[in-house]
Amino acid sequence: MAEEKRPHGQMCVLYDRECIGCMECETCDLDPNKICDNCGKCLDIRDYAAIKIDGIVGLDGNNKK
Ligand code: SF4
Repeated sequence: MAEEKRPHGQMCVLYDRECIGCMECETCDLDPNKICDNCGKCLDIRDYAAIKIDGIVGLDGNNKK
């Protein structure tokens, strides 16, 4: 695709289109008047986290030691 049609040289992270530089992706989810400063308030980050592991590649019944 021609570079002149991709002014920011990348695809949009929110929509199925090329980036047009609208900066919607940089707007705070909690305060639309604020540019994201990575404060993390929208992520509800806690001191701990748990993840469920469905499996580990390579540790199936055929290659146990
Ligand atoms: S600036 Fe706009 S078009 Fe570009 S990635 Fe962000 S939301 Fe998408």
